[in-house]
Amino acid sequence: MISFVDLLGVLRSKLVPSNAIRDMEVAGAGFAGYAAHFDMTAAYPDMFAIPDPASIILLPWKDGVAWVASDLYMHGALVKQAPRQVLKAQVERAQEKGYILKTGVECEFFLLSSASDCSLSDVNDKAVKPCYEQGALMRRYDIIAEILESMENLGWRPYQADHEDANGQFEINWEYDDCLITADRHVFFKFMVKSIAEKHGFKATFMPKPFLQRTGNGAHCHASLWDASGTINLFHDNTGDLGLSKLAYEFVGGILANAKALTAFLNPTVNSYKRIDGRTTTSGSSWAPCTISYTGNNRTHMLRIPDAGRFELRLPDGAVNPYLLQAAILACGLQGIDNHMDPGPRCDWNGHMPPEGAKKLQTLPTSLIDALQNLAASKTLKTDLGDDFVESYLKLQMERWKSYTSHLSQWEIDNTLDC
Ligand code: ADP
Ligand code: MG
Ligand code: MG
Ligand code: MG
Ligand code: MG
Repeated sequence: MISFVDLLGVLRSKLVPSNAIRDMEVAGAGFAGYAAHFDMTAAYPDMFAIPDPASIILLPWKDGVAWVASDLYMHGALVKQAPRQVLKAQVERAQEKGYILKTGVECEFFLLSSASDCSLSDVNDKAVKPCYEQGALMRRYDIIAEILESMENLGWRPYQADHEDANGQFEINWEYDDCLITADRHVFFKFMVKSIAEKHGFKATFMPKPFLQRTGNGAHCHASLWDASGTINLFHDNTGDLGLSKLAYEFVGGILANAKALTAFLNPTVNSYKRIDGRTTTSGSSWAPCTISYTGNNRTHMLRIPDAGRFELRLPDGAVNPYLLQAAILACGLQGIDNHMDPGPRCDWNGHMPPEGAKKLQTLPTSLIDALQNLAASKTLKTDLGDDFVESYLKLQMERWKSYTSHLSQWEIDNTLDC
């Protein structure tokens, strides 16, 4: 199964029988870019997806099939707008400066009934505070255990699974690794969870906010920067605040400075902005950020420092393109380091309930168009990620935004009919 992820995060593949794989390993599998989400027309020549053997994974739930990530070529040259290539370019930039980014992602998801009505599969999962609920977790033991065991067999070192803060919501964690490995695994994890859920008669969704009153699906990303050998964590410094080095704070400074533009990648759908708008949920908290701020071990800000030697970015959601997530974080961080950016003082208060007199914080974009306009205006991030790629991304996202705004909603009828 030769696979790639397009600009809007859709996973695409071709099944190739084993007796034909040897040729395709060299020549690649052909795909029409326009048929997927790429900035190309129908007249463009084919792209060829050349598999990266280092990424190969045998499907744990389907004998005889191997998934492999690929790199896209056209006329023998790498396709620069391909998300995996965008990440590889950032990994190379980091390597030239002597750095390796290591990350871990937490992909939250809902298990719904397989019917197309977006209803929860477990009618007894209705606690107001359902986080870590043992009963609701155990009623889905068969599927969660199958995913956990699959991850163990794949050597991902999974270490916990729990019921999350919304009814019907779960999370399964595995250990961090080099950011390209994490991105490939993030792609595969979504594919695996959806496939195993389907096998058990459920539908899994990573949609950022499928239920307005419930906590949404985050894809928090934990990050640390290592030396070229990959053995020394350059973010770790016992003498620094919260065990973070000056280099780490500069990296954080780059993320904060670019936060508004960054949301265009980390919160890539119309629906994403219902998760980060600061509204409360029935459980009492959205567990999602709404301001551009950082803190210690406190889950109400955009960036949290839970432990020495790493930070957690809580901004990304379940719709994020796994490659662009890593690429954008790395680009911002390198910019922070190169320019010695200062993140300023951290905020230790409850970000959702700032105390009287607290410093007024900048808010995150409130809609996709807001984020896209911020990205369009951000010269440095565009340069760092590649102007052509960003232009292509913006073009496709603007088309999607236009498709959304050309839709007549019930809200407009309800609020405007009697104008
Ligand atoms: P929480 O729910 O507290 O935010 P989780 O345990 O769900 O945290 O996820 C933590 C993630 O951070 C895991 O993927 C873990 O491997 C990863 N992680 C731990 N240490 C580091 C580090 N130094 N660099 C990058 N990721 C890390
Ligand atoms: Mg055909
Ligand atoms: Mg977690
Ligand atoms: Mg979580
Ligand atoms: Mg987290």
